[in-house]
Amino acid sequence: MAKIIDGKSIAQQVRGEIRAEVQKLEAEGVRPGLAVVIVGEDSASKVYVRNKIKACAEVGFYSENYELPEDTGEEELLALIEKLNGDPAIHGILVQLPLPRHLDEHKVIAAIHPQKDVDAFHVQNVGKIMLGQYDFLPCTPAGVMKLLEYSGIDPAGKDCVVVGRSNIVGKPQAMLLLHANGTVQICHSRTRDLAQKTAAADILVVAIGKPKFITGDMIREGAVVIDVGMNRDENGKLCGDVDFASCFEKASYITPVPGGVGPMTITMLLKNTLSAAKLSMKQDEK
Ligand code: NDP
Repeated sequence: MAKIIDGKSIAQQVRGEIRAEVQKLEAEGVRPGLAVVIVGEDSASKVYVRNKIKACAEVGFYSENYELPEDTGEEELLALIEKLNGDPAIHGILVQLPLPRHLDEHKVIAAIHPQKDVDAFHVQNVGKIMLGQYDFLPCTPAGVMKLLEYSGIDPAGKDCVVVGRSNIVGKPQAMLLLHANGTVQICHSRTRDLAQKTAAADILVVAIGKPKFITGDMIREGAVVIDVGMNRDENGKLCGDVDFASCFEKASYITPVPGGVGPMTITMLLKNTLSAAKLSMKQDEK
């Protein structure tokens, strides 16, 4: 039977560390500030944004929330980003994705100043992640690394398998495990004999968006299983990409959904905003 990695509790610990650092910065006259921009009426996105704003308040950040109508034009959105880029009270800018279809996501992300890009989606930050010289790490994969660290699991020398190759989770996750000296294999929808590959993993990270897809017979005895997925099952209940019941019996560690990776994603956003504030202080010293 597996030990459950308690993402809520680890997130609280990390947020406690962030809060303590915010107090130190405040003594030096700096309060980390995050601007969250949402365009349109996507209800899931609105919930995410509300949670981000709430989390900011909990750790003592300053935050601004921009809710723009669905028909906002590109120029108007880019002008807002430009204004926030130049605002010294704002250290991090987050544009909630997905954007309405008439807006070019790449162009919008490229407009965010790389040192305020707390989602780490800007091409400059993505490149830095490849080189291992980053200011910010993408929130979800960084959250997974924190869960491993706080659980005493070192990827060095381990066979790590990442299922999913999206730009926001799978690819950067593989890179972070590689930087941590894991031996990494990335699987996706065109992978042959997936079950054979997942069963060879010491550490398995799953981010595919398919409810309960990875079952106990697809994992190795004693594997560490990290479930990034956030789906609704046939009864509308929140569930991951991993079939928890069957994998729990075989794994050594497993993350639940909810309460695993989810709480870490926002926590790492807070951490990036704190790093951005520190970065701006260093530059002011120059
Ligand atoms: P994407 O849809 O962007 O990517 C899914 C990936 O899974 C693709 O690379 C796809 O392969 C692969 N895939 C799909 N089906 C299969 C299959 N049958 N076998 C193997 N690989 C498959 O999703 P995201 O990366 O954005 O998100 C993945 C999941 O994680 C979702 O449930 C999402 O809600 C959740 N999520 C959770 C977060 C959190 O904070 N907990 C944050 C972000 C995401 P291919 O490239 O070949 O199409």
